[in-house]
Amino acid sequence: MEEQPQIVQPKPRHRWLRLFLILVLVVVSLFTIGCYAAKNNFDEHMMEKAEGTADSFCTTKDEEAPEISLIGNGTISLKVGEKYEELGATAVDSCEEVEVVVSGAVDTNTAGTYKVTYSSMDSLQNTSKKERIVNVIPKYHGTIYLTFDDGPSQHTALLLDILKKYDIKATFFVTGYGDDAMIVREYNEGHAIGLHTASHDYSYVYQSTANFFADLYTVQNRVKNLTGYTSMLMRFPGGSSNTVSAKYDGGSGIMTKLVKEVTNKGFVFFDWNISSGDAGNAYTPNAVFENVVYAFKEYGDSIVLQHDSKGFSVEAVEKIIQFGLANGYEFKKLDMNSPTAHHRVNN
Ligand SMILES: [Zn+2]
Repeated sequence: MEEQPQIVQPKPRHRWLRLFLILVLVVVSLFTIGCYAAKNNFDEHMMEKAEGTADSFCTTKDEEAPEISLIGNGTISLKVGEKYEELGATAVDSCEEVEVVVSGAVDTNTAGTYKVTYSSMDSLQNTSKKERIVNVIPKYHGTIYLTFDDGPSQHTALLLDILKKYDIKATFFVTGYGDDAMIVREYNEGHAIGLHTASHDYSYVYQSTANFFADLYTVQNRVKNLTGYTSMLMRFPGGSSNTVSAKYDGGSGIMTKLVKEVTNKGFVFFDWNISSGDAGNAYTPNAVFENVVYAFKEYGDSIVLQHDSKGFSVEAVEKIIQFGLANGYEFKKLDMNSPTAHHRVNN
């Protein structure tokens, strides 16, 4: 019996293996070609970069915007009428040289806050921006006379430090109390020293004109002995409009008499047109700050009443000064010719 040749069918497992091997071969070849092309591309790119020619990498891949750096401060303050000098900015891009475009106008004749914008764009239109704030502050807004009553106290040294830091002169209406050295410091540091009676005791000083002047001269002598300066500036305890004096004067109209007599004797007395409220409704530095700055007189004189006997009031002074300076006010001490802000006398 003739043997029939046997047809051997390849086993399915072998067929798959062969297909798989072919696939691997194709993938490896493609990868090799890809790497070679990429390397060539990279070499060309590096050569172009070195030669400074057009950069194909940057024109297709650069996604970063230029980085802008301002020359000078990000915020500039100047007074109305002063010149604004454009300091400009620089920009750096990872791929190419870029320019900075400046926009926004500053009107130095009009107070306000202005923005100057610096922008830079690369050839793929990646754009960045930076701003500079320019504050044009009023040349003159008014004059502020800071006045402090009832000291010296343990808070006076801090107050003097703050005033010194900003080179601002204030006025102290002093009493017979507190540290002599503080009065000396006030005087030596250029502040005005006024008189507020030695005892500040309403029941004594408003009992009679004789009592009042005896007490006034006591504090005047204290200041003179410490500084050599005879002060003729004064402020009545409670101000000239106080009504508490009517309790002690036996119905004699003491304030009317005193106002006339102090003037006749050559004193100049001062009241105030802004009360910080530190002897009334204000108990925090912030409340004092708000009472004072919201009441500043525009284009006029602000005579501010504070007490250096109150620590929280002293703590408000730095912010008050900063606000005043930033808004075009000038600070002055009182002298014999200053505005007096007299109140209406009530008795
Ligand atoms: Zn007082």
